[in-house]
Amino acid sequence: MSQAVRKSSKSTRKRSKIAEGVTLSVLARGTPGYSGAELANVLNEAALLAARKGLKAVTMRELEEARDKVRWGKERRSMAMSEREKISTAWHEAGHAILNVLLEHTSPLHKVTIIPRGPYLGATMYLPEGDKYSTQQKEALDLLAVTMGGRIAEEMFTNDISNGAAGDIRQATSLARKMVCEWGMSSLGMISFSEGNEHVFLARDMSRPREYSEHTAQQIDTEVKRIIDEAYERAGQILEERRAAVELLAKALLEYETLDASHVKEILEHGELKNPPIVEAAPPPLPPPPTDSAHQPPEPIKPEFPAGGLPSPAPA
Ligand code: ZN
Repeated sequence: MSQAVRKSSKSTRKRSKIAEGVTLSVLARGTPGYSGAELANVLNEAALLAARKGLKAVTMRELEEARDKVRWGKERRSMAMSEREKISTAWHEAGHAILNVLLEHTSPLHKVTIIPRGPYLGATMYLPEGDKYSTQQKEALDLLAVTMGGRIAEEMFTNDISNGAAGDIRQATSLARKMVCEWGMSSLGMISFSEGNEHVFLARDMSRPREYSEHTAQQIDTEVKRIIDEAYERAGQILEERRAAVELLAKALLEYETLDASHVKEILEHGELKNPPIVEAAPPPLPPPPTDSAHQPPEPIKPEFPAGGLPSPAPA
């Protein structure tokens, strides 16, 4: 039985068919917190992709590509990356992905890729199992370790580090600060250390003093650093123990570019990629999309803890 999806664009009240075997629940899992308009946008994008390929119905492939485009930006296959950047990205993402699978309190890994997309040279994507409204301490600590994994794996391979972990560092710092200042997850206890200006978006009064002493500010910084250092230490130990798997995954990424969670698990369990992905010929370059505003992607949602990614280096 095929399902029909009404396109949201008022000018094109067409129905796009969805192919049999499409698992909308998988797509739904990857779009937590999307508004109805954004979901409509994903479906529109998918319908466009299917139409450009001359397909009669939208398959899971187009739906996933559309979801990834709306969330992480457009794929940039043509971006010229040096061999060194590719290798370093492969190790970086392998580090994130291996930790994501090994640690218990993480959202399930969806896929890991070294195809540049939006501002990222690569990405390790995980799918929360539903809309997330709370974070447990164990989840926060595991997420911190996963976030550290990119830089650590890069260093394992290159004996050097790149600026590619800037996004990870920002995320980790913001998460650790929340743990200390808002969530009572540190030795400073159940005290809220707000800057006092969170809700003052207009006419923000920068001169308003923060509501704690300089001594407390130092304690907060010490706690944030301790939490991050411990996550780094923990991630490093695990990756060092599983160095062979990290290397194998990095090499597999260089060969296949995108791998699913099942591939990462195979590498971890069997020490080899038993069922490698089927490599399809790259689709012919697509004409630029129509400028119809109904097809413009919305501002990407900034998830609370977005999937690890490797931002492009800043222009020299
Ligand atoms: Zn990263």
